[in-house]
Amino acid sequence: MSALPALGGVSVDAARRALAATFKTHAIDNPELDARLLLGAALDLDLTGLITAANQTLTAEQAQRIDEWVARRAAGEPVARILGHKEFWSLSFELSPATLVPRPDTETAVQTALDILRDSGLSGEPIRIADIGTGTGAILLALLSELPKATGLGTDISREALETATRNAQRLGLADRAVFVESDYAAALTGPFDLMISNPPYIRSRDIEGLPLDVRAHDPHLALDGGDDGLEAYRVIAPQAAALLDRGAALVLEIGQGQTGDVARILMSAGLTLHGPPRTDLGGIQRVITARKTA
Ligand code: GLN
Repeated sequence: MSALPALGGVSVDAARRALAATFKTHAIDNPELDARLLLGAALDLDLTGLITAANQTLTAEQAQRIDEWVARRAAGEPVARILGHKEFWSLSFELSPATLVPRPDTETAVQTALDILRDSGLSGEPIRIADIGTGTGAILLALLSELPKATGLGTDISREALETATRNAQRLGLADRAVFVESDYAAALTGPFDLMISNPPYIRSRDIEGLPLDVRAHDPHLALDGGDDGLEAYRVIAPQAAALLDRGAALVLEIGQGQTGDVARILMSAGLTLHGPPRTDLGGIQRVITARKTA
């Protein structure tokens, strides 16, 4: 496909404009940025490098690769899926079909956990963390990158996700402090933990078909589908956390839009105590809720 004119021998700058125009025609959200990201990856240049190279011409090989990527992006595949990796917490995470693309919103969960540990005086301690439904390992590995003495377990029911998370730990130099285990949420774990954290599936099953194409067609539904009311994962995780958390320790949960009240009730029914107000994400949506084991 691709309405692109042939790119071989064309300048980097002309190619960038042609890509952006193609994406605009296909109603892609960020045509200029996506053009830069794909072109930069094809030429192995960062955004500054691309500007410096504006007058260079593309080789036939580069042009062919870009042409293939442009067709995929124009058909709705996210840039992160095309390139196979995504930046989260300024770290690069390899993706697989079994993992979500880590979202900027989820950085709010990481920040919330770091704030709680700091307030509890635990940031420099050899604490134990569990990340439930770890996917790429993004949350756990971001935390370990900030907490030099912490160790962590990441669980997932997908073996493919666990392999991806393990490779991410190795590439980030965190493999000596992170272990990934196959588990239905926290069922296979033994406590106590000083922090439990999760971005579980929370989309109502019937809402999945209405999600944007880049999510619905490219993120694994297992990582999105929270059952009939979107809350099934929380009903499983809350009692598990109540059993596995050390006394005073926190459970930090990412939640979907409008789920604050329901998730708060689920946490309290499990015997946990809500901790502070929900945290909002970059879009102002209540995104993270925290509870502690007080008894
Ligand atoms: N935040 C994701 C979305 O935008 C959902 C992730 C999840 O269910 N945990 O669709």
